Amino acid sequence: MPASRRLTIIAQDPWVRAGGRIVTAQVSVPAELLADGPRGHRVHVVDFDASANRMYAPLPADAMGTSDKPNDPFRSSTTRRTRPTPAVFNRRLLEDPRFHAQNVYAIVMRTLGHFERALGRRVSWSFGGHQLKVAPHAFAEPNAFYSREDEGLFFGYFAGPDGPVLTCLSHDIIVHETTHALIDGLRPRYTEPSSPDQAAFHEAFADLVALLSVFSLPEILDEAVRQVPKAVTKGMLSVARLTIEALRRGVLFGLGEQFGGALSGVHGASLRRSVALQPSRTILDRSEYQQEHTRGEVLVAAMLHAFLDIYLQRLTTLGREANGQLPAVRVAEEGADLAERMLTMCIRALDYLPPTDLDFGDFLSAIITSDLEIRPDDRRFGVREAVRRSFRAFGIEPTSKFGTGDQTGRWEPPEIRRATQSRREPLLKLDYSAVHREALQRDPDEVFRFLWENRGVLGLCTEAYTVVAGVRPCLRVEHDGFTLRETVADYVQILTVRAGELDDLELSGQKGKLKKPKGLSPGKTIRLLGGGALLFDEFGQLKYHVRNAVLNPAKQNRRLQHLYDAGFFERQREQGFASLHLKGMRPELPATREADPWP
Ligand SMILES: [Zn+2]
Repeated sequence: MPASRRLTIIAQDPWVRAGGRIVTAQVSVPAELLADGPRGHRVHVVDFDASANRMYAPLPADAMGTSDKPNDPFRSSTTRRTRPTPAVFNRRLLEDPRFHAQNVYAIVMRTLGHFERALGRRVSWSFGGHQLKVAPHAFAEPNAFYSREDEGLFFGYFAGPDGPVLTCLSHDIIVHETTHALIDGLRPRYTEPSSPDQAAFHEAFADLVALLSVFSLPEILDEAVRQVPKAVTKGMLSVARLTIEALRRGVLFGLGEQFGGALSGVHGASLRRSVALQPSRTILDRSEYQQEHTRGEVLVAAMLHAFLDIYLQRLTTLGREANGQLPAVRVAEEGADLAERMLTMCIRALDYLPPTDLDFGDFLSAIITSDLEIRPDDRRFGVREAVRRSFRAFGIEPTSKFGTGDQTGRWEPPEIRRATQSRREPLLKLDYSAVHREALQRDPDEVFRFLWENRGVLGLCTEAYTVVAGVRPCLRVEHDGFTLRETVADYVQILTVRAGELDDLELSGQKGKLKKPKGLSPGKTIRLLGGGALLFDEFGQLKYHVRNAVLNPAKQNRRLQHLYDAGFFERQREQGFASLHLKGMRPELPATREADPWP
């Protein structure tokens, strides 16, 4: 059986056209023996329309070919051999629900593939089952969402100014929703009430993955570069015409600006707004950027800016060698490679993030560290430096103050941490004598043993309830064949106290650093949440401990004050904690796994 098959998709959305034709792309997805739907081992397309109470005919398995000879059923209509007119060509894609089924199947599988390749392991859905349901024509509403409870992705449709708008034909919307499902499987605590940054992260990361997935298709970058005025003549690009501004406008075209307009009330608008954001180091302090949605746009803008910056530098360097002229095809491929590289980098960073209460600076430190581990030599693109520079331009600094030069902002090795912040205290050593290193790579009880033996060095709170959530061995492979074996584990600590006890709380020998938000009733129950990601090397040696301590007063106090200011504790009694999401978040954000974990 071949390792992968190629399937035709709409490259961005039906509004991005070349010569009147919708721009399509053929993408690789893992080869598998499909059932009618398509239904595969991870994705199950169920084309039921709840608004019309109608079931659409599935794409038959036969049309997809046999397992050893896969077929791309919509390829024949896209090849030049048959030469359909643009109108006929577009209609075939727009009006055939079986193509819509293939489009969502291929894009969800491609996104899952990106995650699994980047992380070097299988990635589970959060709900425990293996197959994510995907409904391409789920309801007649301008919306699309992921639901943990319904174990699926649901894409709506609605009447637009120029005919029906189907969200299941928009590449970035499909990737965005799939990414919500994937983060929810990897970091289920990111939907808990915390800081404005954490609330913004789910949305921002989903948009980031969507943006970079779209630009990892050369077909789209080709169209984007052709939008730069007078840049491309006779298939050759004049590098002198390129500026970040011009590229940014081209990129907006690649995102289907017009389609974005039709969706402005719904979704997809934020990704397009991010593209327009100009760098400012104080943007995150402005009041309009305290709100989760707008705040997320800043993170996306910072990454996009880095992408354009590196892309431009790279083309300028190549253009110098080629007398300022480059084949447009080569230009598109270079950009697609870079997008793929940055996409992989962002996904890998997830394993290097604390499992609770993250902020944007943590994401930057995680990117730098995980990228250094697998790609120590960054000379070709200079991605890490450009990302650091761009994030700084948007006011985001790495959380870690460790490292210099190319390593600035990376997470520090665990044994440099001290049990307290006191400089007089000697460095502490981790003790491995009680654990089996081999078992550390797969057994949560063994990892917990390690945590407990080293609770002083690792700064755990012994009074809290502690649980190791997962232990996963990974084999990460770079394009150049470089491989990295590591094991990622994560744990959570939960401590429930009364608000009135906060000021005098003595935990693990430390006292008086937590503050009750002024005005909060002393009888209120407060749940303090902490945790860490543990990264072991292939010999079972701890490389990194990326954590948010229950005993980190600065962060816990900030979080409690924020939740108090947001009115969270007032609503808590009558509505439970889902209300924090309902206030600001789009309805697509998953409700949490526990019905109401707050007492
Ligand atoms: Zn979303």
